[in-house]
Amino acid sequence: MEKPEKYRNYINGTWKEPESREYCNNYNPADEKDLIGLFPLSSKADVEEAVLGCHKAFQSWHNLQAAEREIFIYRFLKLLEEKVQQIGEAICREEGKILKDALGEPKRGIEEISFFIGEGRRMEGITMPSDRKGVTSVAQRVPLGVIAAITPWNFPFLTPLRKIIPALVTGNTVIFKPASETPLSAVLLMELFEKAELPPGVVNLVMGSGRTMGDAITSHPLVRGISFTGSTAVGRSINRNAAENFTRVQLEMGGKNPAVVADYSDLDRAAAQITSSAFALSGQRCTAISRVIVFDDIADELEEKIAVKMSAYVPGRGMNPEVSLGPVINRNAGEKIMNYIRGAEAAGAKIKAGGKQITGGIFEKGFYIEPTLITGVTPDMAVAREEIFGPVLVSIRVKSFQEAIEVANSTPYGLSASLFTDSLKFINSFQEKVETGMTHVNHGTVTDSAMPFGGVKESGLGPFSKGKTNKDFFTTWKVNYLQMV
Ligand code: NAP
Repeated sequence: MEKPEKYRNYINGTWKEPESREYCNNYNPADEKDLIGLFPLSSKADVEEAVLGCHKAFQSWHNLQAAEREIFIYRFLKLLEEKVQQIGEAICREEGKILKDALGEPKRGIEEISFFIGEGRRMEGITMPSDRKGVTSVAQRVPLGVIAAITPWNFPFLTPLRKIIPALVTGNTVIFKPASETPLSAVLLMELFEKAELPPGVVNLVMGSGRTMGDAITSHPLVRGISFTGSTAVGRSINRNAAENFTRVQLEMGGKNPAVVADYSDLDRAAAQITSSAFALSGQRCTAISRVIVFDDIADELEEKIAVKMSAYVPGRGMNPEVSLGPVINRNAGEKIMNYIRGAEAAGAKIKAGGKQITGGIFEKGFYIEPTLITGVTPDMAVAREEIFGPVLVSIRVKSFQEAIEVANSTPYGLSASLFTDSLKFINSFQEKVETGMTHVNHGTVTDSAMPFGGVKESGLGPFSKGKTNKDFFTTWKVNYLQMV
């Protein structure tokens, strides 16, 4: 048998063994016998080296003109364009999503970088007539310094790009800690930075368990900003550490996204939009629709239509072009999702479609779950309140628009929400009253590449990512007064 490849951290422009010399195996979620490689189990010492490297590199990186930094990013972009297929296939193998969605990550990354690359030159400041004669007053944006980028496994290539590129464009340096489930995507990303000849230390990659080395990153006094995407529980602990050092945070966390369906004439279209938003990536998207909140009189028809659309999903390994539903990330996650389904049944809800683990044949090699629709759900049930992060959609019936909004707002989350309606009065009221960072009317939870992205309540804290608002996170202000006498 071929020896599995051993990967290393990328610190100060070199591929380095972790100080512990310890590694962990990483497997394909669609075939747990397919060993992807051995990846470092880093410790505090590796974090220290990486942060100091970033700090040193910052001194020269932020002194470059934006136009000079841009040259590196354009070189990176070109290299990325050449590697879309290879990166997509690696994501498919490492994360389990279907190839089409996996290819979507580098493709979307290219769109987002193409927008943000010019923002370095558009670091507009403020200048105003001074209160005093002969004085020039200029406020300018300046980078923060060392940024920690901590990312989840569900978008293992796109999410890091969304943090690292804006950080670099605006003059910061980055210590990058990817999810333990998806380190290969991180390595591929670093290889591109290496090929783009990014100066040593400008981006450092440290792999390993967040539980073991997370505090060393998020409590480090030289880390001036933490851009984190992941669960609300981890986001909360990062926020505590950051507060101690007055470190700025951009936290993108969990969701329990509702789709309200109110007097909409095209229920077939609503069902199609809801289904694709709920089950893409096996429901493992922060913006996945996970609750349908539907008016009583149309509920039977809508639930039936959603169940029919769900039956078209073909489960299997993501590399097979016929397949539209991959496995969930690992067995632990699968068991947790199944417990939610069983719990809902025990609480009196009904499994309208799916509800079972898929077993036998190739399905024994990973953890696959049927797309599941649970009906008769009430807002107090765990499946209506907690993030399941799997292919599970629940339907909650309401009698009025007012009640729909109350139910939509009844969880601690506030990421995104959809409304399907023909009525202008509902649209205005929804956009005003629903407590989320993003709203969508008459479509699922798909976002644009350059529009701000983020949540409120326990879904998000700090400036929204993507697009222009990223500058509010990655830069601070310096105000300069000048008098020539
Ligand atoms: P997670 O368990 O919170 O992990 C996210 C990252 O944090 C991983 O790199 C993890 O490392 C690291 N980490 C864990 N403990 C840490 C600590 N104490 N200090 C510092 N870092 C630590 O989340 P996940 O399971 O990977 O991802 C799923 C979650 O992400 C869901 O809740 C989903 O909604 C959310 N998400 C949100 C958005 C958004 O934009 N709002 C987008 C995508 C995903 P290890 O992997 O080593 O544990």
